[in-house]
Amino acid sequence: MEDLLKRIGANVKALRDRSDLNQDHLATYLNVGQSFISKIESGERALTSDMLDKLSVLFGVTPEDLMSESTPESTISHSLRAREIHGEDLETISAINRIALNLDFMTTLLQGQVVPSTLKGSEGEKPRSATEVRYSGTEMYVRARQVRKRLGADEASPIDVFSLAHSIPNLTLVFYPMSERLSGMCIKNHGKPIIAINSTMSLGRQRFSMAHELYHLYYDEGHPLTYYTEKRQLTICARTIGAGNDVEKAADQFASFLLMPPVALSGLIETIESRSESGLDIQHVVWLEQFFGVSRQALLYRLAYDRVLTTEQTERFKQNVIRSASQLGYDDSLYKPLPEEKQKKTYGYYVQLAEELLEKGLISLGKYEQLLLESFRPDIVYGEEVEGSELRD
Ligand SMILES: [Zn+2]
Repeated sequence: MEDLLKRIGANVKALRDRSDLNQDHLATYLNVGQSFISKIESGERALTSDMLDKLSVLFGVTPEDLMSESTPESTISHSLRAREIHGEDLETISAINRIALNLDFMTTLLQGQVVPSTLKGSEGEKPRSATEVRYSGTEMYVRARQVRKRLGADEASPIDVFSLAHSIPNLTLVFYPMSERLSGMCIKNHGKPIIAINSTMSLGRQRFSMAHELYHLYYDEGHPLTYYTEKRQLTICARTIGAGNDVEKAADQFASFLLMPPVALSGLIETIESRSESGLDIQHVVWLEQFFGVSRQALLYRLAYDRVLTTEQTERFKQNVIRSASQLGYDDSLYKPLPEEKQKKTYGYYVQLAEELLEKGLISLGKYEQLLLESFRPDIVYGEEVEGSELRD
């Protein structure tokens, strides 16, 4: 028994260190004092089974892993400075990790069946037109073009990145209300990835975040355009655009190019500049963000990057975002989060897989319901839709 406690303690400490978390983080997460965590790690106190479960989900391992002789691999890697992670964020990480663990469970049940092959990308394409030459040094631009192609979009049109994401094989998409520090997460999960988006952000900001996570999915630490990884790997992304480490900056640049292709944006700006003597003003800013479906922050970040706007102009356009659009006659939904009942939902592969397992009799109805409830789909379990309420269109 003593050995077991010491083993669990050592594993918890090792996983905590590797995830860049401190004892206070775990204390807040488990709702205990910091001294209790310290005693756990030194093997002086035992964890309740509930705590063992919570810790294993947080680190993306099984409870058995926590008891094992050798330290299991934690899946967490973040792009936030450690002090920016709070106890409440660990709840979010766990909620998303739970979905990844459930996916593992469901996949194991399907073993022996054919799993769609991993994606192999074409090798680096060269930029072509004159407008593109300006960005030819920018690897991110080339990558954004490759991903557009892969998603079935052309090179210049505005895209609805959430709709297009349904064409990505085996992708699970989770909307989850996260803290104001986070924008989203990406879990590379043995070829069955999960992307989670902070649903309390504005719709325009969520789209940018989705595009940012696609960078992690396709390019970050892996072969280009493949998202198969041997082990589970979770990346947590901060809220501010253009900040953070080099990978975060690259992902933001990629997202910007994916949603606002240089060839399209520069054309629109040329048109504006030829028609307006005073250059870009608020009506053009609103028009551009509505055209591409991105947030003000995302557009201004790009216009500053392209040196279309000065810092002083950028600051001015950050004010009164919703009012400026409403007064110009635009719908304001781009600047608002989803309605509350849609802020916590899972879509895509996970839901399909649960359905498939039930149909094949590989899981019980009870297990199916549990899997759906843990992925925030009580609407499917309890059938919130009223019969006959569907609109004919
Ligand atoms: Zn990121």
